[in-house]
Order: sequence, then C-alpha cells, then structure tokens
Amino acid sequence: MFRINEVFRSIQGEGPAIGQPATFIRFSGCNLSCVYCDTDHASCRPWRLEELLDEAARGPSRVIITGGEPLLAGEALVPLAAGLAGTGRKIDIETNGTISPPPDLPGFVDNFVVSPKLSNSENNPASRRLAAGLPPGFFKFVADDVADLDEAGLLAQEHPGRDIIVMPMATDPKAVIEKMKILREPVEARGWRLLPRLHVLLGLR
Ligand code: SF4
Repeated sequence: MFRINEVFRSIQGEGPAIGQPATFIRFSGCNLSCVYCDTDHASCRPWRLEELLDEAARGPSRVIITGGEPLLAGEALVPLAAGLAGTGRKIDIETNGTISPPPDLPGFVDNFVVSPKLSNSENNPASRRLAAGLPPGFFKFVADDVADLDEAGLLAQEHPGRDIIVMPMATDPKAVIEKMKILREPVEARGWRLLPRLHVLLGLR
C-alpha cells in the first residue's frame, strides 16, 4: 500500500514540464517543514499499486510523483515507476533531495526534479542537507530575493551538471509577477531559467 494524500489531474505549474497536462500522485507526509510550504500533504489514504496504475492509465501521458516527500516511500517507488513507464507514461519525480533514491528508480524517470531547500525555508541546515546518490536532472530553487540566488549558486557549484530553474517564493498571482520582475535579470545573468508558478497564476491546484 502507498500512503497517498491525493491523486488529481491538472497542468504542471512548475519545473521542466510546466504547462503539460498531468496526473499528480501526491504522497502523504514530509521530512521537512518549510516555512513557505503551501501544500496540505498531511492526510492519507492507502492506495494499492494497481489502483494507482489504473488511475494514471486513464489520464494524460505525464505523471508527476510529488508530495510531501515521495522518496519516503523508498523501494516501493520502483514498481510504481516501472508500471507507469510500462504504460507509456512519462514520469517526473519532485523531491526535496534529502533522501537517496532507490538505485533502480532513476532509470524509469523522465525528469528528476530536486528542490534543494535554502536557508529561506527555515529548516535547520542538517535536515535539509542534500543526500548522496541524487541522479542528474534539475535543481529547482524557491527564491525570494537575490541573496537566495547566491546561496543557490553555491549549491549548484557543489553539485554540477544540473539544469537550474528558479521560481518565486509566492502564493498569490500578484506576488508571483512582482517577484519574477525582481529576479529576472539576476537569474538571466547566472545563465539559469526563471519560471512562474503557473497553477498559482491560473488558480489551479
Ligand atoms: S519539502 Fe516540500 S512538501 Fe516538504 S515542507 Fe518543504 S515545501 Fe512542503
């Protein structure tokens, strides 16, 4: 059984697959407590593997495995990802990067999206330290100001070879736009990509 908070369809509002229709599988629970977290991931309903595969098979070709922190599910993610890939689904995993993924998992994943937590998350540094064994892919940083970009840059240097995405720390449309205006030039100067939170702009989940 998987500890699932919710399964729903929407368009991806963040990260490399932004704008694409997707089935979201949101795992319950997280090992961090970010001050800006706007996801209610506490409630839980048990889902069987076959139920999740059937639900995803009725939806779009992309599946976002998110949370909470999905890597808390450990090895159980491998048959889920393998089953989804077997039905032709493209899989994104969204993780805070503090838990090493099962070695066999990345081979089934299209986009491995790590959102390293900066000091602006107000988690203690030990709890938000990146785990060993994170595969290549994306770093997606939540930034409030230019100082956050400097901190993100240090992490990017320590973990080279990843595509860097920055998104604004904002939970309403006006703030998303205002912060993107502040961040645009300094993000561009670093050669990174600035993306909105499209679901916030459109009032979607
Ligand atoms: S890691 Fe993600 S789900 Fe967990 S508390 Fe932080 S923002 Fe929320």
